[in-house]
Amino acid sequence: MVIKLDELKNFAKIFLTGIYENLERIILGSDRYTSLEMREAILSGKVKIPKTVIEELCIGCEGCANVCPTKAIEMIPIEPVKITENYVKDKIPKINPERCIYCLYCHDFCPVFSVFNEISPIHPRDVGEEYIEIDVSKLLQKKVEISEEQINKISSLLSINLRRIIKE
Ligand code: SF4
Ligand code: SF4
Repeated sequence: MVIKLDELKNFAKIFLTGIYENLERIILGSDRYTSLEMREAILSGKVKIPKTVIEELCIGCEGCANVCPTKAIEMIPIEPVKITENYVKDKIPKINPERCIYCLYCHDFCPVFSVFNEISPIHPRDVGEEYIEIDVSKLLQKKVEISEEQINKISSLLSINLRRIIKE
């Protein structure tokens, strides 16, 4: 196959234009999908790793780890904390972002959110900075008002006996 001079020139032009446009994007940050703010954070090494678990609010029931379809959550042992007469918390979850598919099951099935109607202590993207002080011991003694069916469904996911803790 013989390549004509005109075709070669065209090819070189396309190639050089491509390089120029990409360099412009990288150096000047123009025509980008990522924000300039993010670009600055990446270049200055100041990317903030989001917080995904509020340890103080978590009751260590392991429900999030059990419901996670990709096994992205590992329960990490901690110094035992007595929460109620019947219950001691001894582990908290840690999300592996490489395995997470952001289905939000962990967030939605967490009993602190789904049974006790508080903010969920777990979120795979960012659990947020704002966190109102909540007395977990009192929270677990709070009367819950959700259907029997829902309590049974959520309880079946947990590694603790929720019924020994809550008031219905
Ligand atoms: S959002 Fe991620 S960590 Fe949470 S249950 Fe889904 S895959 Fe697992
Ligand atoms: S389901 Fe909620 S309370 Fe239970 S371990 Fe996970 S984050 Fe903590």
